[in-house]
Amino acid sequence: MRNFSFLVVVGLLLFMASCVSRKTTTVELKGKEPLPGRIIVDTAVLQQAVQEVVKDTIKPDIPLLDTSLIPIAPLLTPEERLAEQKRSGIYKQADWASAIHYDLRKPNFVIIHHTSQNSVAQTIRTFQLEHTQVSAHYVVGKDGQIVQMLNDYERAWHAGRSKWGAVTDLNSVSIGIELDNNGREPFPEQQIGALLVLLDTLKTRYNIPQLNFIGHADVAPTRKDDPNAFFPWKKLAERGFGIWYNEDYLLEPPANFNPVDALKIIGYDTSNLGAAIRAFKRKFIVNKEVDTILTSYDRAVLYDLYRKYY
Ligand SMILES: [Zn+2]
Repeated sequence: MRNFSFLVVVGLLLFMASCVSRKTTTVELKGKEPLPGRIIVDTAVLQQAVQEVVKDTIKPDIPLLDTSLIPIAPLLTPEERLAEQKRSGIYKQADWASAIHYDLRKPNFVIIHHTSQNSVAQTIRTFQLEHTQVSAHYVVGKDGQIVQMLNDYERAWHAGRSKWGAVTDLNSVSIGIELDNNGREPFPEQQIGALLVLLDTLKTRYNIPQLNFIGHADVAPTRKDDPNAFFPWKKLAERGFGIWYNEDYLLEPPANFNPVDALKIIGYDTSNLGAAIRAFKRKFIVNKEVDTILTSYDRAVLYDLYRKYY
């Protein structure tokens, strides 16, 4: 009996789908001549695909025509995807009583990148392509132009797999800033000037701690090397963004100083120690070869940072 009613319902569903498949959708075009003012899109192909999926996913114990069975996520706009995500944040086993005192989570880190591309326009294009799945809040041009691509409160996809201290999802807590730079060139003064103004605004607006202005290579040392070694971290630290050491007053660390622990305390993921040391040296040991060995000078730098900030 149950099988029979199941077959009846499936038959009904297929009949409805075949009706739908004959429908067409009319799309208004804003284009000028010689483009036609209207085009007719036959939705049969789309409906056919949906039918296939519905047929594959229907099980007798699942209510039929449940729209959650149709994997429409790839067809969603970013706004629809957000709404869908918010719906999934409801814990169904709990009762609900709305709170009235709340706002949005705010960013607590800033992560600086270089684009490895050849222009701001190329970077924007990359971030707007469906398959790239990457984005950032800001892109800063060589001439100091700043382009914002996402609201500061939204989660950009810029850090990827990353770790800093105990934070394992940097995208959720950070603003991503991309500097137009091919990865091998210095950063012009105008670009850094514009960046400093932007950082100042973000630091004040969201109360971001000085120590939380970091680079992509800091949080993903096995995969990334941006911003490149030309990036002026010292200048940033002097303005209150990130850290730097007393170059003229380096002390020899005490015998019990453990440089690996110091790297960890600063935030580096030392599970691949060589990668962490390379990231540290690329950032702090200027004009020297970037390798995986901590010299006595490197240890003194590390000790000074440790004493000064932690
Ligand atoms: Zn990056």
